[in-house]
Amino acid sequence: MNIRILSKDENSLKFMLENVDVTFANALRRIILVEVPTMAIDEVIIIENTSPLFDEVLAHRLGLIPLKTDLQSYTLPEECSCQGAGCTQCQLTFTLEREAEEEGVIVYSGELKSQDPSVVPVSDKIPIVRLARGQRIVLEAYASLGRGKNHAKYQPVSTCSYKYKPIVQLEGDKCEACGDCVEICPKGVLDLKNKSIMIKDVFNCSLCKACEEECEFDAIHVESDDTSFIFNIESTEAISPEEIVKTAIEIFEKKVKELQSLLASQTS
Ligand code: SF4
Ligand code: SF4
Ligand SMILES: [Zn+2]
Repeated sequence: MNIRILSKDENSLKFMLENVDVTFANALRRIILVEVPTMAIDEVIIIENTSPLFDEVLAHRLGLIPLKTDLQSYTLPEECSCQGAGCTQCQLTFTLEREAEEEGVIVYSGELKSQDPSVVPVSDKIPIVRLARGQRIVLEAYASLGRGKNHAKYQPVSTCSYKYKPIVQLEGDKCEACGDCVEICPKGVLDLKNKSIMIKDVFNCSLCKACEEECEFDAIHVESDDTSFIFNIESTEAISPEEIVKTAIEIFEKKVKELQSLLASQTS
């Protein structure tokens, strides 16, 4: 297996996974989606709520706020020595107290006060509730690590997709440089320059084969490499994209080792 970074920024990562088959690529995608943990609010104690939202709707909205996650400092509740009872290793507290002194006050995620400054909402500007004059909310919320397989609010990504690596081949001697394939390509992969067709960005190809169908001269061919995959990951900002992939690979290795030892114990 080989990993090649194609592009990255603070919250997204595009990389090529080479010399693997589709089952491996899909297992990695599934682990990213449902096994890599993040922090989310999971329990809310409403002390006072005269807002227009019912308590359970307010709690649901709080649960969906992505939180910056520190995987090194916290343990999953089911793996914690407190056995899920809730302690500083597996849980932290947020408080929120707000009363509207004027009409139409919007309470934002930035008003949640965290017990741990390293675990805060990824944005201060996520609206929670709109209060009319005199309305008030007072609550305590408890966040813990969890996995996407238990609730989508724990997924570390907003997007995790892959596609086969495209291979676009031109047969120069058959091509009449009519430009029809350039016109039809929805991804801007091809270009016509100096009366010849150029491939600008093959990794952008969606494998739709519209160019093949458009070409009257059978001069362009599109195939996929079924051992190489282009992954596209967008983080919710809870964890960096690099940490998401690194953690997913560690979880993958752990699962393979567990399977190996299980098989060894069955055969011995
Ligand atoms: S459509 Fe066919 S002939 Fe026309 S430019 Fe494209 S490859 Fe060449
Ligand atoms: S297969 Fe589709 S996206 Fe790829 S080069 Fe042809 S027209 Fe463009
Ligand atoms: Zn604990």
